[in-house]
Amino acid sequence: KRTHTRLPEWLKTPIPSNENYKRIKNDLRGLNLHTVCEEARCPNISDCWGGDNKNAATATIMLMGDTCTRGCRFCSVGTSKNPAPLDPHEPENTAEALSRWGLGYVVLTSVDRDDLLDGGARHFAETIIKIKQKAPTMLVEALTGDYAGDLEQVKLVARSGLDVYAHNVETTEELTPMVRDRRATFRQSLRVLKAAKEARPDLITKTSIMLGLGETEEQLWATLKELRAIDVDVVTFGQYMRPTKRHMKVEEYVTPAVFEMWRQRALDLGFLYCASGPLVRSSYKAGEAFIENVLK
Ligand code: SF4
Ligand code: SF4
Repeated sequence: KRTHTRLPEWLKTPIPSNENYKRIKNDLRGLNLHTVCEEARCPNISDCWGGDNKNAATATIMLMGDTCTRGCRFCSVGTSKNPAPLDPHEPENTAEALSRWGLGYVVLTSVDRDDLLDGGARHFAETIIKIKQKAPTMLVEALTGDYAGDLEQVKLVARSGLDVYAHNVETTEELTPMVRDRRATFRQSLRVLKAAKEARPDLITKTSIMLGLGETEEQLWATLKELRAIDVDVVTFGQYMRPTKRHMKVEEYVTPAVFEMWRQRALDLGFLYCASGPLVRSSYKAGEAFIENVLK
């Protein structure tokens, strides 16, 4: 509770209320679709679901269950060596529900499934293929894990018909061992992003970085340059928020002015666009950004 009262003013958010938000929330009833936006009580829900352009409405869906084989130190998802088997009907059911929901842009993400031979890549790709069959105008972003460095799986997902391939480096190379599960390395993540681009050069690639973990300005700048060097198109920055006392602590609450500075620096380096702010998550208003910067 004390941590809460010490939160800076800029991290407090209003209750969602706008019309598009209400319409989309209403349409969700009865579809049996679980969004990360609602389940994680994301503070951006009215911006993402409710912007002025309803074709840009964005939501995030989690595939392949709620239990991860990894345990990153910033993440509140539950961990197990043997999560429940995949639901073979999930690709079809997700696509069907999404096609009936009034959404413009969907971000599909998943837990990491190191227990599966292909890391769940075929399941992920099948979901994308089905969505594009049932809802051809819906824009699809996949936010995947690193498939333990198996680049064939990355390529399989990259060639499934999606619009944006996202994989998060989360932090700088120096901090990675303290922040992410030990099976995740910064270099491996760069290889994932590079392989996705090589598999389909017209694909938009994207990554996300949390600030406030103790990274230095030099480290962050070097990270951005490495990402640009492998043609990553989009980067986002958000504040790390500690889910519980068992997770790593916040080193710093970065001010909105510093977030804006990093957005500018990313654009100067040649990133196509950049969402940056204390409450930004990698999927923040992703539909609007894509429509404004890629489809224009
Ligand atoms: Fe949903 Fe992501 Fe937007 Fe949050 S930032 S409301 S999780 S789409
Ligand atoms: Fe959380 Fe992803 Fe790490 Fe799993 S791999 S613990 S879902 S951040």
